[in-house]
Amino acid sequence: MIDQVRDWIDEARRIVVLTGAGISTDSGIPDFRGPQGLWTRNPLAEKMSNIHYYLADPEVRKLSWQNRMSSPAWTAKPNPGHLALVALEKRNKLHALITQNIDELHQLAGNSPERVIEVHGTMRRVMCMSCGMRAPMQKALDRVRAGELDPPCRDCGGILKSDTISFGQQLVPEVIDRAMQVAAEADLFLAIGTTLQVYPVAGAVDIARSAGAKLVIVNAQPTPYDDVAEAVLRGSISEVLSAVVTPARESALRSLQ
Ligand SMILES: [Zn+2]
Repeated sequence: MIDQVRDWIDEARRIVVLTGAGISTDSGIPDFRGPQGLWTRNPLAEKMSNIHYYLADPEVRKLSWQNRMSSPAWTAKPNPGHLALVALEKRNKLHALITQNIDELHQLAGNSPERVIEVHGTMRRVMCMSCGMRAPMQKALDRVRAGELDPPCRDCGGILKSDTISFGQQLVPEVIDRAMQVAAEADLFLAIGTTLQVYPVAGAVDIARSAGAKLVIVNAQPTPYDDVAEAVLRGSISEVLSAVVTPARESALRSLQ
């Protein structure tokens, strides 16, 4: 099956990739929905990720800032799965990279920021809930370290939050529209490390298929789209991706070494 998918990638010209938490677990960033997820281990985490509690309760915000400072994402490095998608872009095959992740590891790995569509935003930026000001997260974290336990917006005094989509918050329509648009332009759609259960993002799969794209799923757990996919690859995402993005000829050479 790996060989078949490698051939499809060799033939494809407009690959659209959708990534979820599964691609970042090899970088040490836990999947908060999974069985080992933050939610299961810490019920407060659920409150902190809910916009209503966040806006209403300064204590929830103070905990959120502490939580952001200790995030494993700050020291996380891209893994071979991320690097494989950079290789795909270097081969001029990557049309767009839609991600549900907020860690920016795709950009850190070397994918062009303009190809990455962050449907859930990024944790590396803050935004003001009152005036919409955006700034680097690290600057806000410096203020927390210096003693401001819930740093307000310097422009308007409003509440700052990571520039991500919390529960209870609307997705950004322009971003979702763009994701659906690129999905419709795909000739091969790769869904990686996502259970494809979160809508409307999972709907990108339907759009790509309707437009005639082949669907390849790389995920450890079953997804609702496994039955309609041309290929489903289980196992380590890092290993599977590294194997399938290497052109067939190079792969044959490498196996001889
Ligand atoms: Zn503001």
